[in-house]
Amino acid sequence: MTMLADLASIAPDATTAPFWDACRRRELRLQRCSDCGAFRQPPSPGCPHCGSARGDWPLLSGRGTVFSFTIVHHAAVPPLAADVPYNVVVIELDDAPGARLISNVLDVAPDDVSVGMRVDLAWDETPDGVVLPRFRRVTAER
Ligand SMILES: [Zn+2]
Repeated sequence: MTMLADLASIAPDATTAPFWDACRRRELRLQRCSDCGAFRQPPSPGCPHCGSARGDWPLLSGRGTVFSFTIVHHAAVPPLAADVPYNVVVIELDDAPGARLISNVLDVAPDDVSVGMRVDLAWDETPDGVVLPRFRRVTAER
């Protein structure tokens, strides 16, 4: 896939920095409310469920399921021309109920992406050192 460096850069703020800092360590961590336990993705300063401003960032397994997806056929910008068609997926993570992560499944043909497909985390690093959580299809559960 085209690497992010060709298209944009990551500019974390105080709320999103813990996610990107964890990615640099190749740890998938999503924000969780310390009071009611609800995951918040994308992260936010306050919990939409209980109003708490407290949160922690538990380490996740990276296993999940495709909740939804689309196949992109038209390159919105020239650097993507070599990549179309490609998938954009919404992943439900096994150990972060209620949170969904937008990503891509690597090394899978467009016709082979499906809702309910099991996936596992696959770290992908751009030339400028941004580490992105992407996924690969799981064919046999352990
Ligand atoms: Zn809460």
